[in-house]
Amino acid sequence: QSKVTILGIPFDNMTRKDFLKELYIRLNHDQKTFLVTANPEIVMYAQDNQDYYELLMQADFIAPDGIGIVKASHALGTPIKERVPGFELMLGLLEIADLEKKNVYFIGAEEDIIERTIAKVKEKWPHINIVGYHHGYFNHADPEMIEKVKLTDPDMIFVAFGFPRQEKWISNYLSQVTHGIAVGVGGSFDVLSG
Ligand code: UDP
Repeated sequence: QSKVTILGIPFDNMTRKDFLKELYIRLNHDQKTFLVTANPEIVMYAQDNQDYYELLMQADFIAPDGIGIVKASHALGTPIKERVPGFELMLGLLEIADLEKKNVYFIGAEEDIIERTIAKVKEKWPHINIVGYHHGYFNHADPEMIEKVKLTDPDMIFVAFGFPRQEKWISNYLSQVTHGIAVGVGGSFDVLSG
């Protein structure tokens, strides 16, 4: 699988369709997966924050989230196939979860936003087994939340705290489980619920 490195970040050079195909395979092979969707802000932030850079290096996939990344890849002479927005990967994964009746956990955003997100998911993807959800305003270092989520054993977990918080939490969570796809989705619940 080919990579394009921009400012030290190794992006997976795949179309949206390819990303979803690969994620589907990993889901059905029960392979624990850390997916990062990196926009230009994330790439810039990682330049000056070694800890965050190292978190990104733990990812199984890094998707090029934004036209800025695609333009940079062209300028560097190593073109990326297409922009792969985090929001669209989330929709694609929810589609898969619905078809395969998977267990999904949603965590992040304000209380009313997460409530509305859950209502929207139930309406649009009725076969998803929502194993739990929680708003994103708690102490992210609290080990109890991870314990709580672990008990629900999700196949997919969507984490909407914004970067770098969401990637830190995911890395911590994934280090303690053997199963599931985890992805930081930034402001996606705000969009989905709206
Ligand atoms: N958020 C959260 N907990 C926090 C901070 C932010 O759940 O401690 C949520 C916020 O409500 C929003 C999402 O994270 O739904 C994205 O936040 P922001 O726009 O700051 O991040 P970005 O999209 O720029 O990564």
